[in-house]
Amino acid sequence: MKYEAVIGLEVHTQLKTRTKIFCACPTDFGAGENDQVCQVCLGMPGVLPVLNKRAVEYAIKAGLALNCEIAETTKFDRKNYFYPDLPKGYQISQYDMPICKAGHIVINGKKLRIHRAHLEEDAGKLVHTGAAGLHGSDYSKVDFNRSGVPLLEIVGEPDIRSPEEARDYLSELRNILRYIEVSDGDLEKGSFRCDANVSIRPSGTETLGTKVEIKNMNSFKAVQRAIQYEIERQTAVVEGGGRVVQETRLWNDADGTTHSMRSKEEAHDYRYFPEPDLVPLEIKREWIDEIRRDLPELPEQKRQRYTAELGLSPDDAQVLTEFRELSGFFDTVVQSGAPPKAAANWLIGPITAYLNDNKIELAETKLTPANLRDLIAAVDSGRLGSTNAKKLLAELLATAGDVEATIDKLGLAQLSDESELKRVVDEVLKRSPQQVEQYRSGKTKVRQFFFGEVMKDTKGKANPEITNKLLDQLLPAPEQG
Ligand code: ADP
Ligand code: ZN
Ligand code: MG
Repeated sequence: MKYEAVIGLEVHTQLKTRTKIFCACPTDFGAGENDQVCQVCLGMPGVLPVLNKRAVEYAIKAGLALNCEIAETTKFDRKNYFYPDLPKGYQISQYDMPICKAGHIVINGKKLRIHRAHLEEDAGKLVHTGAAGLHGSDYSKVDFNRSGVPLLEIVGEPDIRSPEEARDYLSELRNILRYIEVSDGDLEKGSFRCDANVSIRPSGTETLGTKVEIKNMNSFKAVQRAIQYEIERQTAVVEGGGRVVQETRLWNDADGTTHSMRSKEEAHDYRYFPEPDLVPLEIKREWIDEIRRDLPELPEQKRQRYTAELGLSPDDAQVLTEFRELSGFFDTVVQSGAPPKAAANWLIGPITAYLNDNKIELAETKLTPANLRDLIAAVDSGRLGSTNAKKLLAELLATAGDVEATIDKLGLAQLSDESELKRVVDEVLKRSPQQVEQYRSGKTKVRQFFFGEVMKDTKGKANPEITNKLLDQLLPAPEQG
């Protein structure tokens, strides 16, 4: 029997507010242990949480960008559980009235639905001493800097069907959150975390199979590998006559497997109840409209525009929109009058290669959108050959300057003066009687040699079309053989 995978992702993304969600402690990453804590985020008795308005704004902004409905009324709930990184004994989260619900994002033309997105506070972090980790070390420390940092938990519907699609979903989600500047989406710093729910079912059937939740993936690659492993594991269980048990499993990146952590807890285990220290929140429609008005153009809208209006291929549109910086640069170049296809080719090809080779961002180079526009114009007008255009680009990336001045500085202008080029071609033919004779006798391949010599003599500046035309005129007619 063939099986189909069903995958639903839960993403926790840290919102880029300056301070925590219920207190005024800073959220900066990398501070000394417990340097950013107060009575509220340490869970002292008798203190009260105060909601950070910016966190709510960012949640709304994210909800709108994810095509969600924004609740008119929302509230916070306590999710009760014990863990050493949770001093209050409960996490303030949202249970039955999340701030956002019923959204979707578009991946390769397919709508992947988002069930809900809700606000909650992060927990602290356990720091296990000793190389062997928790069980091999003498003691563990708790760092509460992260306690109370605002998170948006984005719960996807089980619409994903493969590990690759899961990766594409995550990458697009992160991209959107970065476009709207509500999150860094940095997996390494933990500001973008993903749990994957995976089940299998016989292909062609509709009923959902029993799902397993996988945690502890620290990269997109790990998510992809963990899901792949889990699909294979579940398939083997079912094919061996067994049944998949609902549980939470941990991914081990080193050995590429998952292992059971605990049987899956149910909502009632958490004894959710409304947070009595925070009043329910009514969200004014005007506020939502205002946030909506300020949304930038999002990746999917850009892709639509690039393909429909600018005539780019879907692949080019995809690559350009993967980074807001790249598409922003492209937009400026095109707005300033450059032909879109050429601008896209330069950005996706040599410019991206340069950024990868040097491990830098576009903003760290000296290239300006006007530079790229002028470079493309210089190529189109024939002032610059393709080899020298690449030399010019390399210079513009490394050193600030305008195109004309740099062409002059490096002496890159294409030689298009016909009489001047004719002198060069004459000279080449005169010093190569043997090759001319070969050509005449029918070995027309030596034409490449003459062309190469002309380029050498002109340091690559000879206009190729004019050079070819002159060779046509000045070479003897080859004998028919
Ligand atoms: P729970 O009550 O266990 O938290 P939810 O229904 O809230 O389960 O879903 C949690 C996540 O699991 C969601 O992202 C959802 O898309 C996904 N999910 C639910 N059922 C399945 C399933 N059978 N297979 C794969 N993923 C699933
Ligand atoms: Zn605090
Ligand atoms: Mg759930």
